[in-house]
Amino acid sequence: MSLGNSAACPCGGAPTALRRQGVALYIDCCGRFIAQGQLPPDALHLMRSRYSAFVLENEAYLQHTWQAACRPEALDFDEGAKWLGLDIKDVVDTGMQDGQATAEVEFVARVRIAGKAHRLHERSRFVCEEGQWRYVAAVNIGA
Ligand SMILES: [Zn+2]
Repeated sequence: MSLGNSAACPCGGAPTALRRQGVALYIDCCGRFIAQGQLPPDALHLMRSRYSAFVLENEAYLQHTWQAACRPEALDFDEGAKWLGLDIKDVVDTGMQDGQATAEVEFVARVRIAGKAHRLHERSRFVCEEGQWRYVAAVNIGA
């Protein structure tokens, strides 16, 4: 799946994202990272773009933004999953580790699979490797 220039961003738009008529456009929000190859400036923007990539089932982007040591061989997307929204709960700068910036982002993502709503509540860890923020792993916080 891909989105046109006038589509609203699946992530709902970062609070400070450029907005046109109150809507964060995909191309201004996550599309510049996913489709245009710009580097997300921080873990929050990477998190949002990875959510959008899940919505778009963009496996290449998800793999690229996964830390190599933790990256799965392949991704399974739930068939017919309808993503309903992303709420960012917390963003914490966790400082330098082994010379690399790190951060954590807590979020709730809601998805409907086969008519049943699920709530995914996680705290994800991120690391910045030579300018590219990458997802490391998540702690599941539960419902
Ligand atoms: Zn977005």
